[in-house]
Amino acid sequence: MDLLKQKIEKDGVVLSDSVLKVDSFLNHQIDPVLMQAIGEEFAKRFKEDGITKILTIESSGIAPALMTAITLGTKVVFARKRKSLTLVNDLLTAKVYSFTKNETNEISVSNNFINENDRVLIIDDFLANGQAALGLLEIVEQANAKAVGIGIVIEKAFQEGGKLLRDKGIKVESLAQIELLENGVVTFKEEVTV
Ligand code: 5GP
Repeated sequence: MDLLKQKIEKDGVVLSDSVLKVDSFLNHQIDPVLMQAIGEEFAKRFKEDGITKILTIESSGIAPALMTAITLGTKVVFARKRKSLTLVNDLLTAKVYSFTKNETNEISVSNNFINENDRVLIIDDFLANGQAALGLLEIVEQANAKAVGIGIVIEKAFQEGGKLLRDKGIKVESLAQIELLENGVVTFKEEVTV
């Protein structure tokens, strides 16, 4: 997705050889025009998949998930990373280890909002080692729903998550795939067009 790649090149900050900071348009300040284009692109890629629900994780997955949901006409559920006073009963939970934060969170979703009839699209901002996506897949499984695909805004293709998920036979669509972060420079993976 060219608009997204241009934005990463212009405003992304390479913090190290493994971490990209995109606080100015995705992780802190949000660019609504870009986010709308991201939502339309995900909707295009998953429009034939009969999606009934979008599942994401707070907080940075919510904006792209919401924009996708508007186009696909579905609702969005976001997994919470912290315990909530009001979210106490009938919880679906999974443990997610974060390499960037070096901590494990128990993520949770109420089972009122995903059920066995749902065809779920998982959306997240980044794909690195795949732990967040695996946690969300576990929640879909606990709800006896079907995980139809995973939409990722930025995939760091040099980390193992993409392979791990695709090897499970899941349709994974990333809007920008980064091959390398080196010496402050972002190198994108060539897109193969058929
Ligand atoms: P994973 O679970 O795939 O290892 O990591 C995905 C999660 O970690 C994302 O939800 C995102 O919040 C965070 N993350 C991983 N790598 C990066 C990165 O390079 N930059 C930013 N901003 N977040 C990242």
